[in-house]
Amino acid sequence: MPEEQYIEPKGESGAEVAGDEPLIDLSQFSPKGDVLVIAEHILGDLQPVTLELLGAGRILADKMEKNLLCIVLGHNLGEMPRLLIEHGADTVYVADHEELKLYRTLPYRRVICDFLESLPEAPHTALLGSTTTGRDLAPRIAAHFETGLTADTTELDIGPYEHKSKVDPTKIGLYPNCLYAIRPSFGESLKARILGPWKNPQMATTRPGVMVPLPRDSKRKGEIKQVPVNLKEEDFRLKVKDIVREVSKGVKLADAEVIVAGGFGLGTAEGFELLKQLADCFENSAIGASRKVVDLGWIPYQHQVGQTGKTVRPKLYIACGISGAIQHRVGMSKSATIIAVNKDPDAPIFGFADHGIVGDVYQILPELIKQFKAAQDGKDSTQNLDNSGVKAVVGAH
Ligand SMILES: Cc1cc2nc3c(=O)[nH]c(=O)nc-3n(C[C@H](O)[C@H](O)[C@H](O)COP(=O)(O)OP(=O)(O)OC[C@H]3O[C@@H](n4cnc5c(N)ncnc54)[C@H](O)[C@@H]3O)c2cc1C
Repeated sequence: MPEEQYIEPKGESGAEVAGDEPLIDLSQFSPKGDVLVIAEHILGDLQPVTLELLGAGRILADKMEKNLLCIVLGHNLGEMPRLLIEHGADTVYVADHEELKLYRTLPYRRVICDFLESLPEAPHTALLGSTTTGRDLAPRIAAHFETGLTADTTELDIGPYEHKSKVDPTKIGLYPNCLYAIRPSFGESLKARILGPWKNPQMATTRPGVMVPLPRDSKRKGEIKQVPVNLKEEDFRLKVKDIVREVSKGVKLADAEVIVAGGFGLGTAEGFELLKQLADCFENSAIGASRKVVDLGWIPYQHQVGQTGKTVRPKLYIACGISGAIQHRVGMSKSATIIAVNKDPDAPIFGFADHGIVGDVYQILPELIKQFKAAQDGKDSTQNLDNSGVKAVVGAH
């Protein structure tokens, strides 16, 4: 969209249009600028959401014909900056300091805000993960620059926005190149497209597991630049004495290729034992759950899939006794294949599952376990699904 099409929706004097809604301050609006990803790692362990953000950021930057920047803070980061280039960044800014080894809000906020202020032009968009760190850091940066921030986005895009005066429809403000920060809203029943182009950077955090990383390209070229670190005494109000990392047993939901998930239809916490037997038919499998059963204490929270749990996209998702409420669906609908087992033929999950099995989990699952074990050739058990597994047992829905 050519920039010339941008018209300020102001009265001739530049004053507020009488009787209209309050005037938006356009003095800092700019459709220009690069896209920035703020990388996240835990003691040098790069978090997957960073690569996902680079994948999404690359699409936005290409759409605007701009560069994709990435900033990473830490100490002795080794090959990490290079890895960020291989996953899509054009320029990686590295802030290396002993005091940045571990994430702390104030030092990280200081370095990132100083860095942004030092750039000749503010980035158009700044993206962080909707992780504990991203949710802590993003609002601090947004507040410092008095810019907007959309939390927990599931889609990102670039496009125009037309602001029409309610009093005089001929007064139109056309904003090209706005960040469309899209997220489920109203109990996940609607998708809201949230715009805040009045000031750059337009900021968003994005749910882990939603965006798709680019494949690693070891030949990709990019620049690595050092960022000055000027920390102040007041940045050290918090002292970290010790770090205790909880190691969860088994495969993490986000990494699993097959997820067998249970809901209230299991009737009891013991039902998960049957699900584990089914999950054991596959390599790299994990157990998921609906919120209802997590709230009942049948299974710990780290297994919860959905709006207030994890977003997953495995090769295969087997939903057992789960109704398919929208809050659950948003966390698993991007799975490559969904199989649902539910005794109610009208359960909403059958509306979006690839294969539906109507019946009691306690009758169906033992049969499925038997069939999957028989169908397995011991290599990639997920490849056997369509030709020999579920359809052979019950037929496609
Ligand atoms: C703000 C908010 C956030 C939320 N976040 C999440 C979230 O992150 N994740 C999430 O999952 N939910 C979330 N929820 C809750 C969500 O709305 C649903 O209540 C929940 O997903 C329902 O769980 P369920 O499918 O296990 O239970 P139910 O809706 O009770 O469904 C049970 C299903 O099991 C079937 N069934 C019963 N017995 C059997 C049997 N023997 N064999 C086979 N099928 C059987 C029934 O037909 C039914 O369809 C959220 C809700 C709100 C308001």
